[in-house]
Amino acid sequence: MPRPGVIVWEALRNVFSKKATIDYPFEEGVKPKYGLRGAHVLYIEECTGCRACQRVCPSLAIEMVPSELTKTKKRPVINLGQCIFCGLCEEACRYDALFLTDYIELSAFQQKEMIIYENEPPKEEISEGNEPKEEDS
Ligand code: SF4
Ligand code: SF4
Repeated sequence: MPRPGVIVWEALRNVFSKKATIDYPFEEGVKPKYGLRGAHVLYIEECTGCRACQRVCPSLAIEMVPSELTKTKKRPVINLGQCIFCGLCEEACRYDALFLTDYIELSAFQQKEMIIYENEPPKEEISEGNEPKEEDS
């Protein structure tokens, strides 16, 4: 059992020493420069709906839904609440349509808020480039 004097000394030392924590989210935290895996970005104009991302997803976080914008008439919808941010979907996408960003502030009050790309963007907002690629079958 430490002596009372030691306890008082430790308490005083902690009161006057530099803070070891930050007032997140009011104070910006330390963000690693590389290697962060956060929310996905989907470039729908590049997506063919090939399902490769869905097939490799180990946590079944990707669902394919009907789409008017891809060759196969399917596109991915991602449930970040199920995602383990392994990055396999990004690796599997050979059309460079799906990437993980470094956006990691993903808390939400409701599960449905964690589902991204649920709504299809209007066709007129999509640039050229979603034409079916020759090598697709
Ligand atoms: S792997 Fe890429 S191209 Fe294929 S469905 Fe997923 S995002 Fe679209
Ligand atoms: S990062 Fe991993 S777990 Fe998340 S959607 Fe992609 S493949 Fe699935």
